[in-house]
Amino acid sequence: MSGFACLACGGRHVERFLALHGVPVFCNVLWSDREGAQAAPRGDLDLGICVDCGHVFNLAFDPELVRYAEGYENSLHHSPRFQAYAEELALDLRRRHGLDGKHVVEIACGQGDFLKLVCAGRDSVGTGFDPSFRGGEPGPNLAIRREYFGVSPLGRAPDLVCSRHALEHMDAPAEFVAMMKDAVPAGAAPVYFCEVPNSLYSLRDGGVWDFIYEHVSYFNARSLAACFARAGLHVTRTWETFAGQFLCLETGPAGAPAELAAVPTGEELQVLAAGLGTEVDRLLNHWRAEFARVAAVGGRVAVWGSGSKGVTFLNLMGPDGAIGVPVDINPAKHGLFLPGVGRQVVAPEDLPGLNIALVLVMNPVYAEEITGMVRSLGITAPVVGV
Ligand SMILES: [Zn+2]
Repeated sequence: MSGFACLACGGRHVERFLALHGVPVFCNVLWSDREGAQAAPRGDLDLGICVDCGHVFNLAFDPELVRYAEGYENSLHHSPRFQAYAEELALDLRRRHGLDGKHVVEIACGQGDFLKLVCAGRDSVGTGFDPSFRGGEPGPNLAIRREYFGVSPLGRAPDLVCSRHALEHMDAPAEFVAMMKDAVPAGAAPVYFCEVPNSLYSLRDGGVWDFIYEHVSYFNARSLAACFARAGLHVTRTWETFAGQFLCLETGPAGAPAELAAVPTGEELQVLAAGLGTEVDRLLNHWRAEFARVAAVGGRVAVWGSGSKGVTFLNLMGPDGAIGVPVDINPAKHGLFLPGVGRQVVAPEDLPGLNIALVLVMNPVYAEEITGMVRSLGITAPVVGV
């Protein structure tokens, strides 16, 4: 027993299962110089799992190390696969909640890409909150405030409150949900929609590179619902999306029927978690051998995806990953250096000429898309998921 209380359900049966030391605090803040990248702040992951609800969280998380600001480059919308998913999700929300003429609030809205999609209906109005908003004109019906949600009064009551990939960053997620509820004007009863990474994917489906410092929490459908239930909100639905990698939740009026995704018991999840340390070691040993084989013939390994997964993977590989070349389709990342390992991100078009003998795909969801791009560049090297 760790002595910690579960961030989601409040239970006291939390067991440690995996420690990863010295990982970059920000996987998604890239650097314009190698020295800066190598000196980027680092923190420790000391992961625990709640035996009651299966919630996973970082017991060593220090909120003082984390500051979100401009320059946070986590925009995923450059991928056609992700963009198509966001469009489909926005359309689904509009259809099911009839958002014409309604007010939608999005917490941690980034540059407003998703808010714009949700508010594409007739007379929909959107208000977004994000300290990393770069400014500009998000759209005539949208207002984005460069601040954290809940700091200043909301104004018009919302009909839908969206939060995508935000709750996993909070050091007190249950309290944050309670604040989300308290921040709406009295009498308003919006639908809350929440999307987070699905911890079942990491625990069950081998997504071991998803453990990053920025994520305090790794939710399953039960632990996510526990945060909302503790705030007095009625969860009507939980479901998996994006090939099981994401988890969605919605609330509704008290007493409405609920349709909740099946989740293994906390004890079953604890068994899965307990095997992860061995799995990380096995994978790292496997890739160390593969990198050595490629290095022996003077080749290099393209590591496709320089987001969280790529940064975590290359940092855990350490000096053994020296022939790894991070690749990304996001032009904002090209030429910049990854935190920790300090490797420079290249564009796909730069790969021919780099003697690439192996292409690693950090996220299997994009494998088909990436294989197509690699072949169109004339590269015949094997394309393999990590
Ligand atoms: Zn719990």
